[in-house]
Amino acid sequence: MPEPGAAAQFDVVVVGAGIAGASLALALSGQGLAIALVEARPLAPPPLPAPLEVAAFDPRVSALTPRSRQLLDSLGAWRGIEDYRHCAYRHMTVWDAQGTGRIDFDRDEVDAPALGYIVENRAIVAALLDRVAGAADIHCHGEATLAACRREGVRTRVELADGRCLSAQLVVAADGALSTLRDLLEFRTREWDYGHRAIVASIETARGHRHTAWQRFLPSGPLALLPLPGAGERFCSIVWSIDEELADDLLGLDDAEFCRELARASEACLGAVLACSPRRHFPLRQRHAVDYVQAGAALVGDAAHTIHPLAGQGINLGLQDVAVLAEEILAGARRDVSPGQLELLRRYQRRRKGENLLMMGAMDGFKRLFEQDALPLRWLRNNGMRGVDRLPLLKHQLMRHAMGIG
Ligand SMILES: Cc1cc2nc3c(=O)[nH]c(=O)nc-3n(C[C@H](O)[C@H](O)[C@H](O)COP(=O)(O)OP(=O)(O)OC[C@H]3O[C@@H](n4cnc5c(N)ncnc54)[C@H](O)[C@@H]3O)c2cc1C
Repeated sequence: MPEPGAAAQFDVVVVGAGIAGASLALALSGQGLAIALVEARPLAPPPLPAPLEVAAFDPRVSALTPRSRQLLDSLGAWRGIEDYRHCAYRHMTVWDAQGTGRIDFDRDEVDAPALGYIVENRAIVAALLDRVAGAADIHCHGEATLAACRREGVRTRVELADGRCLSAQLVVAADGALSTLRDLLEFRTREWDYGHRAIVASIETARGHRHTAWQRFLPSGPLALLPLPGAGERFCSIVWSIDEELADDLLGLDDAEFCRELARASEACLGAVLACSPRRHFPLRQRHAVDYVQAGAALVGDAAHTIHPLAGQGINLGLQDVAVLAEEILAGARRDVSPGQLELLRRYQRRRKGENLLMMGAMDGFKRLFEQDALPLRWLRNNGMRGVDRLPLLKHQLMRHAMGIG
């Protein structure tokens, strides 16, 4: 035990044990590094309810790309997800509420077993924390809040509210969109409101989802119906992004009215909506850190960037941050280079920032394109979607990119 006030020494301290932070700790484990994982909540895997019914699904789900699945598999966490539950989607249908534009994607077009996987967020976190619990070189600090963080020579010192101190060559902020560590280290961000709120819930529908992810672009925002596991393929998770001023109206409806409104907004693509879980909602804000790194510190996942959920790419980008940062740290360790060295960290930034910016720009462009009612833009949407649908090579490229395999 270190003296009171003295800091426990680590190579890497990861702050935040969500999907990004827990994945990073695991990706670095077993390589001779001393790792600490600091999390505000308890670090025990969250309980996973067994029943397949609307109220028992986690309303927060992620559409994971095959590439993200591969990463979780390499960390030993995919097994836990498979043992619990998930739903592979093999087909995707996207259409425009204001015209005839429609595009269909199918796994056969890219010769893959699935386009992606809908997984409840708590199932991903539980599978990761289960692996963390078995890793002797990850020192867990659960229910710990940050009090201070500062550079001390070539190391970074983290002070927790309960008086514990940690010192590391590298401190990684994986503490989410409102990252405290990012603020303590004075990283700057650029941010703006999308003017949308995302309403999420689990629903039961009259018709089966056929392992298809459905997305309808309404002028007030996109509505996604994502397939969940369960008998008759009747359960879906919804992400309904909608103008701020309309969100309160939807949230104020009783369940029966909300189900009717949802069936109408989705053009009853799955028939009537029979039941829905309590709704949760999140303000949507685009946020991007100007720099992802400084000497002795790095940002990953939502601490570095938040993005509109319309293409379900947020944590997929975060997991790619994790893979690249771990790769650079481990390559550095083989050459005896400190994980906190600025040059090493800049390589991580160079490899990730461009791709993240590209995806953020594309999401912003989509959102703007579909919310406009002007005739030329409607024409562009209708013809653009039909055109892409008829160009197999371009479509193939788009699909591979969205699946993280392009
Ligand atoms: C409605 C909606 C739908 C989405 N759908 C998708 C999708 O389909 N696919 C996809 O890829 N992405 C999706 N996303 C984005 C995805 O949810 C996020 O990108 C992802 O959860 C971010 O993970 P993270 O680990 O970076 O951060 P978080 O999940 O926010 O985890 C941060 C962790 O840090 C902890 N923490 C916070 N502050 C502190 C502190 N001071 N000290 C210690 N610990 C702290 C928290 O308790 C938490 O455990 C969606 C987002 C929204 C809002």
